[in-house]
Amino acid sequence: MGQVDLRSDTVTQPTPGMRRAMAEARVGDDVFGEDPTVIELEEMAAGRTGKEASLLVASGTMANLVCQLSHCQRGDEMILGDQSHMFYYEQGGSSALGGIHPHTVPNQPDGRLSEEAVENAVRADDVHFPVTRLIALENTHNRCSGSPLSPEYTHAVGEIARRNGLALHIDGARIFNAAISLGVPVRDLTADADSVSFCLSKGLCAPVGSLVCGSREFVNRARRIRKVLGGGMRQAGVLAAAGIVALDEMVDRLAEDHDNARYLADGLAGISGLQIDPELIRTNIVFIGITGGNRSAGTIVRALEKEGVRTLAVGPYKIRAVTHYPIQKENIDHTIDAFARVMKTHA
Ligand SMILES: *Cc1c(COP(=O)(O)O)cnc(C)c1O
Repeated sequence: MGQVDLRSDTVTQPTPGMRRAMAEARVGDDVFGEDPTVIELEEMAAGRTGKEASLLVASGTMANLVCQLSHCQRGDEMILGDQSHMFYYEQGGSSALGGIHPHTVPNQPDGRLSEEAVENAVRADDVHFPVTRLIALENTHNRCSGSPLSPEYTHAVGEIARRNGLALHIDGARIFNAAISLGVPVRDLTADADSVSFCLSKGLCAPVGSLVCGSREFVNRARRIRKVLGGGMRQAGVLAAAGIVALDEMVDRLAEDHDNARYLADGLAGISGLQIDPELIRTNIVFIGITGGNRSAGTIVRALEKEGVRTLAVGPYKIRAVTHYPIQKENIDHTIDAFARVMKTHA
């Protein structure tokens, strides 16, 4: 059996159908608004998220940055989770490039921010305080076991935002995973958001690209910000073509990734020295704690690699495994066997 690469769903390859669509895409200069394939993808993305308009950008990080800079002025404050991708993994870009002040609230294990904590984080009108402008949620939540946020929860946070005159952004890098897991349309998860970003290049298997979705007025502002960040791409229809295939063909099958993640979690839960909470696994991300003994996550990851299984050490005693296309049950069986052998030799 070849390598099983569970480091991330970003290692997915474009499908044969995507490569064909890319080769044959009709293209134009998208900075002039003349790329028909980009326009088609943006209309599709707006439709799926129930927004007026959308904008293709180079990455999820750029999508979040464009949204933050479109919502906030320098010195404005943004409320977000202390485990969020925007706070943790984006170099503090909105602070470095936009002067936006992050106000973190603890993420609960299922990715939520307590409504009370969010409400308390909103600043009063006081000359000492920054002005609160934005609340950001993450769905699914990467560092919180890929947990999906429900429409009801999102609505409750939307209510807090509206009551306080704030915007709500959803980092929906994997929002299609959330929709499939919860059995709801994506637009039910985005109805309360002023902006939402999602990735084509993770479980949906496209090579490049994320979408920013919102009102027409918001997307017009976002388009200007994208340009100043150097993100105006010309014949981007070559990339958008793969994105259209991703949205048409790769969404419903995410359920297989979720089944495989649960199957992996159930299999690993029985291995001595591994700590896992299968109940938390509702999409495609599995966190594995290493307990007892003094073998580190790094040691286990290196040993697994020799068995043909690639995972990521995300803490001194924490490993991450992400399921994705075209990983099958037999690859997961191989992974569980490899973990069992490695934990025995590193007892
Ligand atoms: C991957 C990810 C991003 C960033 O996407 P890139 O395309 O890697 O820049 C943003 N938010 C979340 C939750 C992610 O998982």
